Amino acid sequence: MSTSAQIGVTGLAVMGRNLARNFARNGYTVAVHNRTSSRTKALVEEFGHEGDFIGTETAEEFVAALERPRRLVIMVKAGEPTDAVIQEFAPLLEPGDMIIDGGNAHFADTRRRERELRERHGIHFVGMGVSGGEEGALHGPSIMPGGPRESYDSLGPMLEKISAKAADGAPCVTHVGPDGAGHFVKMVHNGIEYADMQLIGEAYQLLRDVAGYSPAEIAEIFRTWNTGRLDSYLIEITAEVLSHVDAATGKPFVDVVVDQAEQKGTGRWTVQIALDLGVPVSGIAEAVFARSLSGHAKLREASQGLAGPKAAPLGKEEAAAFADRVEQALYASKIVSYTQGFHEIAAGSEEYGWDIDLGAVSSIWRGGCIIRAAFLDRIRAAYDARADLPSLLSDETFAREIADAQDDWREVLIAATRQGVPTPGFAAALAYYDALRASRLPAALTQGQRDFFGAHTYRRVDREGAFHTLWGGDR
Ligand code: NAP
Repeated sequence: MSTSAQIGVTGLAVMGRNLARNFARNGYTVAVHNRTSSRTKALVEEFGHEGDFIGTETAEEFVAALERPRRLVIMVKAGEPTDAVIQEFAPLLEPGDMIIDGGNAHFADTRRRERELRERHGIHFVGMGVSGGEEGALHGPSIMPGGPRESYDSLGPMLEKISAKAADGAPCVTHVGPDGAGHFVKMVHNGIEYADMQLIGEAYQLLRDVAGYSPAEIAEIFRTWNTGRLDSYLIEITAEVLSHVDAATGKPFVDVVVDQAEQKGTGRWTVQIALDLGVPVSGIAEAVFARSLSGHAKLREASQGLAGPKAAPLGKEEAAAFADRVEQALYASKIVSYTQGFHEIAAGSEEYGWDIDLGAVSSIWRGGCIIRAAFLDRIRAAYDARADLPSLLSDETFAREIADAQDDWREVLIAATRQGVPTPGFAAALAYYDALRASRLPAALTQGQRDFFGAHTYRRVDREGAFHTLWGGDR
């Protein structure tokens, strides 16, 4: 066993434990530490054979076990626990050492921590987004590190080794940008994940309620979709979940689960920050609201008697054609949610001076993470061809694909409306698309209203300047 470790991990719940094992399996000596030391002992006892671990009990022992400059990964609960751990370790470190926060921190906290640690202690603070859940942490996650560029020179090669690899072998990690850039990109990744899951949920509901398919049949449809352009981790696991049968009742698993979705907060942050930045992420917002609505049990209970339409489901012959349409609607809506997510990253990058390479971001999402999908290759190609693409929808390939899908997309929404199936994600995506391509928006009327009631003035199409009309009436 070595006496000095190339990397240390503190916080050994599912994520930290698996990340530590991943480093060890890749040949690194890993110092491990946890507030409750029984977790440390358990890790070394259970997985010690996988690689070189140095189990430590106190913060001092942990720091002493690390070679210099020290690389110390924190994988604890985001928020106050992260600050507590930083405060415990920072005084024990030296200038040039690195603290790497792999938790789901809010990027504003990461910016603050980075500044404080740099100014007070000369410590390099790396806010590192990690996606892929516990399996990803063990077998190769998608990693989104921010922080000082020079820290990546030393840390990057290790992260490249433990990260997922895309189909072309490229490691799913890149230096995203300074201070909070990595956690910002991870936040938007999660926002896109919310939107993807909501869209898939709507496709499922339509196939069930409009086309009349059973969960097992829908699982097969998703399996087929997974061999085409929708090929992605979320579509793959959706097929698994839908084909799963509850052992206790023999019913489809999806029918015995309470239909109230949980959320931890990164989707909500994505929307809150988008509002601050003035970026329309309507699809992501609808996904967050849909989860929120699902949780309002009393409100839903009180609304059970509300009237709905009296439309019959489709016959078997029409169902297959409808399923094809749903695939088109899902794909088009998915393009829109990624468009919105990338717009938010571009806006954050501009606001905070991060200079984020959007092509590199799409590249590192191709493996390891929850939203990994074949079509990210094409997003990367779009940004590689033109780094300052105003929107993914301005890419010729995506514009053509949406043009091809739009009739079916509209038909699906007509069917959803006729049958009273809620499809806020599909509808928001189509409204976004239609609003962007509209030559005139009713915002002109909004300008007039604002000037009428508040003398807010308006701009004209034919002259520069701010104008106010003396509206009639006694106001
Ligand atoms: P978690 O449940 O979020 O956190 C548990 C860990 O935090 C334990 O090691 C716990 O130590 C430690 N901890 C809590 N409060 C502490 C404090 N005040 N001081 C010191 N340690 C404290 O664990 P997790 O699910 O493995 O996630 C770790 C981080 O990764 C989180 O920030 C999470 O958001 C992020 N993340 C999770 C996933 C996922 O799929 N789970 C994916 C990506 C990122 P004790 O054992 O002593 O209680």
